[in-house]
Amino acid sequence: MRIHAFHRLYQDRLQRSTKPFLARGSKIARCSFCHVPCEHCLCEYQPDIETAVAVMLLVSENEVFKPSNTGRLIADTVKETYVYQWHRTEPDPQMLALISDPAFFPVLVFPAQTEQDRARQLLSIPKLNDAKKPLLIFIDGSWREAKRIFRRSAYLASLPILSIEPEHLSNYLMRKASNEQYLATAEVASLVLSLCGEEKGAEALHIWFEAFKESYLLGKSRLKPVRDKPALKRWQAYQQTV
Ligand SMILES: [Zn+2]
Repeated sequence: MRIHAFHRLYQDRLQRSTKPFLARGSKIARCSFCHVPCEHCLCEYQPDIETAVAVMLLVSENEVFKPSNTGRLIADTVKETYVYQWHRTEPDPQMLALISDPAFFPVLVFPAQTEQDRARQLLSIPKLNDAKKPLLIFIDGSWREAKRIFRRSAYLASLPILSIEPEHLSNYLMRKASNEQYLATAEVASLVLSLCGEEKGAEALHIWFEAFKESYLLGKSRLKPVRDKPALKRWQAYQQTV
């Protein structure tokens, strides 16, 4: 398994935290990399594909500890994924350097809500054959946190916005109950990869997300579900083709 920036952020935060973060379902013994229950660990199936885009995840305060987080699935799929803890007043200098790196075309993926947002919307989606590599920036957190981060980060204010409308996405069962508006970061990312022409990455991320969701939910269900894992089988079959 490839250790990536999301794993490193998790380990770093874990070492610094003085008390455990109690997420829902925290009584279950989970793999500390894929965060599904240990008996369903998915690490050996981690994607190993090449993509021509780069991704940056800005992670809200406690998101890194949530087992239902799907930002890490993006880091599994897109090898060039940069992951930073969000800070309003002390942004990571490396993150700022990446945003202004002329080799990249940074795009902030966020649903445009106001006139101001819409004025920042991209007129044309960055394509893979353009001179600059798309750097797709996602805010990884609950919808409430994401809005706060979007509005309160001066260093994001000048970036072009790629707005994904919620009706383009399926409902995300894991968090649907707590917030109808919240969309899984990985689902949004899959759609955005497709828009940029990165079809292989989009497809891999989508199927990998479905496999993750299945194993994650196996740990939640009180009724013992059928354990033949059709979504994981689909992912394994897909891995044979790439
Ligand atoms: Zn695992």
